[in-house]
Amino acid sequence: MAYQSVNPYNGKVLKTFEELTDKQLEKAIKTADSCFKTWQNNSFAERAAIAKNAAAIMRLDLDGFAKPMTLEMGKRIEEARGEVMLSADIIDYYAKHAETFLASEKLSPDAGEAMIESSPLGVLFGVQPWNFPYYQLARFAAPNLMAGNVVIVKHASCTPQCAIAFEKLWLDAGAPQGVYTNLFISHDQVNQVIDDPRIKGVALTGSLEAGKSVAARAGQNLKKSTMELGGSDAFIVLEDADLDKTVKWAVWAKMNNMGQCCVAAKRFIVVEALADRFLAKFEVAMAAFEAGDPMDKATTLAPLSTEGALLKLLDQIDNAIAHGAKLVMGGKRIARDGAFMQPTILTNIKPANPAFREEFFGPVALMFTVKNEEDAIALANDSDFGLGGSVFTQDIARGKRVASRIHTGMVFINQPTWTAPDLPFGGIGNSGYGRELSSMGIQEFVNKKLIRVASINKLASA
Ligand code: NAP
Repeated sequence: MAYQSVNPYNGKVLKTFEELTDKQLEKAIKTADSCFKTWQNNSFAERAAIAKNAAAIMRLDLDGFAKPMTLEMGKRIEEARGEVMLSADIIDYYAKHAETFLASEKLSPDAGEAMIESSPLGVLFGVQPWNFPYYQLARFAAPNLMAGNVVIVKHASCTPQCAIAFEKLWLDAGAPQGVYTNLFISHDQVNQVIDDPRIKGVALTGSLEAGKSVAARAGQNLKKSTMELGGSDAFIVLEDADLDKTVKWAVWAKMNNMGQCCVAAKRFIVVEALADRFLAKFEVAMAAFEAGDPMDKATTLAPLSTEGALLKLLDQIDNAIAHGAKLVMGGKRIARDGAFMQPTILTNIKPANPAFREEFFGPVALMFTVKNEEDAIALANDSDFGLGGSVFTQDIARGKRVASRIHTGMVFINQPTWTAPDLPFGGIGNSGYGRELSSMGIQEFVNKKLIRVASINKLASA
């Protein structure tokens, strides 16, 4: 497996990187471990000063960070710029709030004094995906570095230039060597790292398959882990939804990042009173996308991240159709250079069709028509995933009632599931466990230590 930048717009190989030898890997872990010994003792203010520098550098050099994303995984340049800003916001958010989030908590036991203190664990290992090449890194690194941990990161093999840029960012911001370390390593070496006693926690964002492998390895080593995995989010449209606004959001929910989002809307579940009108408008809007250079601001349809991702998606579509799905539009690659996929809509997907349970990671919408709200909820919950979801209705109280009955980690009303530094992010079931972002994300890899002051004269009763 090579770490390689390939431009999915034209298939050109931009750069190839060597994997680390075991000796180099050992040196990297050793440096991180010795860095932790001092970093953990820095004050929040000292750590925050470095984090704030990092956020400022990202904002100042917006295109310097955005362009490698567009070149390596095809993200439209405007979306890439947005991701750089969001990543900077996440870093700033933890610089500002970490101390409050981790302040000692006084308990009120029946007798004596007690408190919970939060302390860092040590070197944490992150395994990260290509679809949001900086946001994912910021989401993992910022809270954990602010908590006093240090991190080592294996990024996806197709986004090595972003991986290097994010490591350099921390050094440029004034962090000592070993606070943030990028590792170009193989899957076997991922296991070696997890086994290493100096590694105190493991966080993966990626596919179900990667999650099962990494979580099992962490479990064998009794190491705390968080898993942010795939999803098949429902986008529920009730009969009282505002149709025009809902269709606009539906298109955004499907086409943002070319559908390569864990929380992209993947199953559109529309009550029959609105279904035909929704589909007609949705189809027109999906047909309006035009392929072009993602570096050009005017382009609306970018390539998928890699040729391999495109081939996988085409295979899933063929398989869905072979099992009875009806192709409403698209379904093919676009006849031009690059990993371009037609916006696609499939209907008539029955439970026996493999497509019913799979994650489609691209511009492919699975459309379902249901009788009513009750059936919409039942269908939304008939999934092994449990990441996000959304409900569209003009009756907010109704939206909240429906949201409460959806079995996922996040449900948005009248907006597709999305992210902000102060909102927790994560799922249940095959979408994983643990939360990133908000006050919750910083609590995952700290020791919640009880400190108890008791009367020396009193024996503890059983
Ligand atoms: P992926 O193939 O699982 O890769 C993710 C990371 O895991 C990469 O660094 C990859 O390295 C590594 N990896 C894969 N298999 C591994 C194994 N057996 N052992 C060790 N490391 C392994 O996922 P992806 O295609 O990059 O990302 C898309 C998936 O991530 C989708 O399912 C999406 O829904 C999910 N995702 C979830 C969230 C969330 O927050 N829940 C956010 C974003 C994405 P290589 O590149 O070297 O193979």
